[in-house]
Amino acid sequence: MAGKIKAIRGMRDILPPETGRWQAVEKAAREAFALYGYKELRLPLLERTELFARAIGADTDIVGKEMYTFPDRHGDLLTLRPEATASVLRAVLENGLDQGAGVKKLYTLGPMFRYERPQKGRYRQFHQINCEALGSDAPELDAEVILLLMEILKKVQLGANRLLVNSLGCPECQAKFKAGLGLFLINKEGLCEDCQRRRTTNPLRVLDCKSAHCREILKDAPVLRDYLDPDCLAHFNRVLELLSRFGVTYEEAPRLVRGLDYYTRTAFEVVAVGLGAQDAVAGGGRYNGLAKELGGPDLPAIGFAIGEDRLMEVLPENLGQGDGKKVFLAALGPAALDLAFSLLQTLRQAGVAGEMDFGNRSLKAQMTLADRLGADYTVIIGDRELETGKATLRRMATGDQQEVALSLLPMVLAGL
Ligand code: AMP
Repeated sequence: MAGKIKAIRGMRDILPPETGRWQAVEKAAREAFALYGYKELRLPLLERTELFARAIGADTDIVGKEMYTFPDRHGDLLTLRPEATASVLRAVLENGLDQGAGVKKLYTLGPMFRYERPQKGRYRQFHQINCEALGSDAPELDAEVILLLMEILKKVQLGANRLLVNSLGCPECQAKFKAGLGLFLINKEGLCEDCQRRRTTNPLRVLDCKSAHCREILKDAPVLRDYLDPDCLAHFNRVLELLSRFGVTYEEAPRLVRGLDYYTRTAFEVVAVGLGAQDAVAGGGRYNGLAKELGGPDLPAIGFAIGEDRLMEVLPENLGQGDGKKVFLAALGPAALDLAFSLLQTLRQAGVAGEMDFGNRSLKAQMTLADRLGADYTVIIGDRELETGKATLRRMATGDQQEVALSLLPMVLAGL
């Protein structure tokens, strides 16, 4: 017998009833996006490798080690997207979405692919909700984007969490900081192999290293805040002031840099308390230089990504359940089945979710099925009911039963 084929390591099936929770999160996000004026983009999962190499930075773990890259049949080098921002900007520039006045507000949902070592909360195909606001460097936009993120997380009932915020400054501040950090790292012993290289090529990446020893060394490293020029400092302070005004609790995280090279000024992350090693459920920041890097105009922008897989781990079990009632029609005999089938369609037309069994099973078997399907009410129709023109309506939670005229059933059920 042929062996069963399994899913690829690090990639998993998300099945019902779990998918109901995912839908609830995505619904909450879509509602919040609409309130804040965002429109959805749907983008290809495959892009030219060059897009990510240029956008994310050659020295990052993502581009260096984690991309699913392969030549297609024509020999073009393609990559399964490891993140969405580069693709969003590519699409914006290609389709002229950056034209016209005002901030362009876009969001997109879907899978991302990174060849990381799979563990709890870390997958090779994972899912993000991405938000991007393009066309302004105003600190009010930073604050608005963070407020939007926190609103989505609140709507989905995320419990204890911490919002970490930092400013990476403009490229000039960053250059000065990199020089200072490089100097600090120059004589440090015991950095991991990657960091020994990065301390000269791109010392900012050392701050993002996951090795415990590198982290220990970094405890005394210089912090970005001390290298911010007056404009970047004022920008950062204004963002923090606005967050405070709207009651958002944040912590300054002086060494937060995030894993991509394109960030400037505001960078932030939300970590969920109790998630263990992989505790970041969302992250984002400003990327003012990215559009130019991709051959576009000067287009300051800011965005965030929510990691849905990790978020699901900490959200309430019953999220999104119990919306709307469900009716099961138990029919006994061919004539009852025929009538119930028509009734079922009438119910659905009236917006009531209903199911029935076409298997001509016993009442007991049908009641068991109704339970398993989570029906709130069951309508029992047999020969007696057909004769009297009344069906038995049973409330599953309590077992209460009442007789309802068949002709009135759709109306009664719609009103329950
Ligand atoms: P990033 O694109 O690296 O800024 O990540 C944004 C968010 O995506 C993180 O905060 C995580 O919640 C999520 N994320 C990133 N990588 C993975 C992964 N390999 N598996 C699951 N979630 C991930």
